[in-house]
Amino acid sequence: MDSIKQMHEVADENALIARYTEVKENIVRAARHAGRDPASLHLVIASKTQPVWMIEALINAGHRLFGENRVQEAQDKWDTLKVAHPDVKLHLIGPLQTNKVREAVRLFDVIETVDRERLARALAREQSKQNKNLSYMLEVNVGAETQKSGVMPEQSAALLGLCRNELGLNVEGLMCIPPANRQASPYFALLAKLASENGLSQLSMGMTADYPIAIELGATHVRIGTAIFGSRR
Ligand SMILES: *Cc1c(COP(=O)(O)O)cnc(C)c1O
Repeated sequence: MDSIKQMHEVADENALIARYTEVKENIVRAARHAGRDPASLHLVIASKTQPVWMIEALINAGHRLFGENRVQEAQDKWDTLKVAHPDVKLHLIGPLQTNKVREAVRLFDVIETVDRERLARALAREQSKQNKNLSYMLEVNVGAETQKSGVMPEQSAALLGLCRNELGLNVEGLMCIPPANRQASPYFALLAKLASENGLSQLSMGMTADYPIAIELGATHVRIGTAIFGSRR
């Protein structure tokens, strides 16, 4: 590797860690502003499409919580990364097909995107087969958008009941991606209301564009990519 390239990579890495630090500071500030304990906030770094060297730089900076969207891509990157860093926790934040359930249960610690009965049943079978007990969140289609994944808000209580009572899945919270190009706060408020009605303590909501308001409205997990990595390649 020539030294010019090396210098560029050092500069890139410094910029990456500076953006990461700034996001963490923003999270603490938003938490304090909302009268919440900053320690109750979890930053899930959304590392889809990002190269391993950037992820490793963040791990070396002390970060331990990442989210990936696709099972295959996550395997390609994390099979080795997780061996090197066994204390890293990995969340699945993208839609899950039932034919990928085995790999997903093997690789992820938390699956945030449970949104239908068939998937919930497949996860229950697979985690028992692998003798694992993952944590889960239900993804709620808060904008009731036809093309989007997620359980409809009015069906979320029934799905939760099935997961908890019949399947014994450890569902800890709700997750959402509000409609694009609309003010997110009413959707965050809806997710918070559904979680509180159903006795769920975790709320995964808020991305680069809207995490401070999500924290204001009760997010416990914010999923952030662009503000840390820059634009996706
Ligand atoms: C990519 C992604 C994020 C992060 O989005 P940014 O706007 O890049 O911060 C969060 N959640 C999900 C489900 C994503 O796919």
